Amino acid sequence: MTTEFLPYKDMDGQFIAGQWRAGRSGKVLPNHNPYDSGLLGEISLASESDLDEAYQAAAAAQRSWGKSLHSERSALFLRVLAILDQRKDEIIGWIVRETGSTLLKATAEWGAVRAGTMEAVALPSRVEGKIMPIDVPGKQSFVYREPLGVIGVISPWNFPMVLSNRSIAPALALGNAVVVKPAEDTPVTGGLLLAKIYEEAGLAAGLLNVVVGDVADIGDAFTLHPIPKLISFTGSTRVGKRIAEMAATGTRLKHVGLELGGNAPFVVLDDADLDLAVGAAAFGRFLHNGQICMSTNRIIVDASIFDAFVEKFVAHVKTFKTGDPSDPDTVIGPLINGKQKAAALRNIAAARAAGFTEVLGGEADGLMVPPHIFVNVPNDSPFAQTEQFAPIAPIIRAANEDDALRLANETEFGLSSAVFTRDVARGVRFARGIEAGMTHVNDISVLDSPFNMFGGEKNSGIGRFNGDWVIAEMTTDHWITVQDGARHYPF
Ligand code: NAD
Repeated sequence: MTTEFLPYKDMDGQFIAGQWRAGRSGKVLPNHNPYDSGLLGEISLASESDLDEAYQAAAAAQRSWGKSLHSERSALFLRVLAILDQRKDEIIGWIVRETGSTLLKATAEWGAVRAGTMEAVALPSRVEGKIMPIDVPGKQSFVYREPLGVIGVISPWNFPMVLSNRSIAPALALGNAVVVKPAEDTPVTGGLLLAKIYEEAGLAAGLLNVVVGDVADIGDAFTLHPIPKLISFTGSTRVGKRIAEMAATGTRLKHVGLELGGNAPFVVLDDADLDLAVGAAAFGRFLHNGQICMSTNRIIVDASIFDAFVEKFVAHVKTFKTGDPSDPDTVIGPLINGKQKAAALRNIAAARAAGFTEVLGGEADGLMVPPHIFVNVPNDSPFAQTEQFAPIAPIIRAANEDDALRLANETEFGLSSAVFTRDVARGVRFARGIEAGMTHVNDISVLDSPFNMFGGEKNSGIGRFNGDWVIAEMTTDHWITVQDGARHYPF
């Protein structure tokens, strides 16, 4: 092994202005493996002055980066791609250890970071302006598309590396600089590991800064700071709404991209292929223990096939192995932390207290909660209306197709959704009736592709990711006109 591929080390502080250094808050964050509680490291946390330094460094570095040739920016991502390939096992190892992800999920996350990086190679050359007609003699009108400037990124812990990088990569590709605040549970995979990769790829100092801090110290300041032009936030609806408020009330108005919570319906119509539907519902519900914004959160099944579906679904889910996420056979690993486990156990207790029929359950072991399935759950119950973020599946009975659509839409959220039917035209008609940003006919509700649109409706957020949509989100239009010859002014 050559020295250049020695495992990354010293991910124990901040990455600001191209320097690895301790945070100045005086606080230390222990970083634990959720499976065995092992200590992965201790991180000295950032103060508000660290955050300010990161934003200042980003603003200074962006001035020349925003004018760089698109080929220079594309080349950066080719080097990032090579590093992702060379360090595949190291990266997957970190995702498993820090997030409790199974090998399957961690490998999928590495693949999603890689796919997003491939898309970023092409993004710089896809930015287009416009020449517009204008009703003024001798005038020419142009719309230029420019980088926004500095973008602040806040990411959650569930798919930390991909959810940070899906903002970082397009932001940099489009000529912006970035300050990232990863979640407390995933400081390495949500930020510091990406900083190591971009640094190794040769990104100039200041263009990517990672600030790991206590929300009590830097949470509000992150959005209120005058430098960022956009806060690209992925996380809960509760915090997203607060970010939106602060973006409006700070000294400078700023854009927000909000990718928030979900309560995806998975609808099985009366003509569905039951075996396909069962497999998809189970994978879409239990992948990463249900800790995904697009997770199938409610399974809505036509009454005529309800019992048959439940029987097959329970039989399939019973085969899932719970335990060590680094064992390739494991399906259900640990939840991320004790708070999430307590919430899952509270929801299970509430379902039992409400008298819903528990057809599969079991006892928690450490942070591992085995799959739970409840049937005949009313859609308007708090249980069905809650984003579970745990391996808990409510199954809801629909009287017919119209009823299924009504139930699917009875939620504050509108991120992803799915419908199963053998009649594709019926599936598309049904899909178009769902009030959500994304609906998949005959597939799982968990789907992301770096060149297809991603985003939600209702309380699931504002804004779009990927492809042309992220170009619109992370650049701004500048109207420029040129007058050739004199104009006649009325006075
Ligand atoms: P969260 O909102 O608690 O935290 C998300 C991030 O916000 C973290 O980095 C956290 O430190 C930070 N944060 C918390 N309070 C803050 C404040 N006051 N100011 C600034 N930052 C603050 O969410 P979570 O528990 O980490 O993630 C789970 C949630 O994220 C779920 O609701 C899930 O559906 C959602 N999510 C959405 C998407 C999507 O693309 N729509 C993707 C993944 C997760």
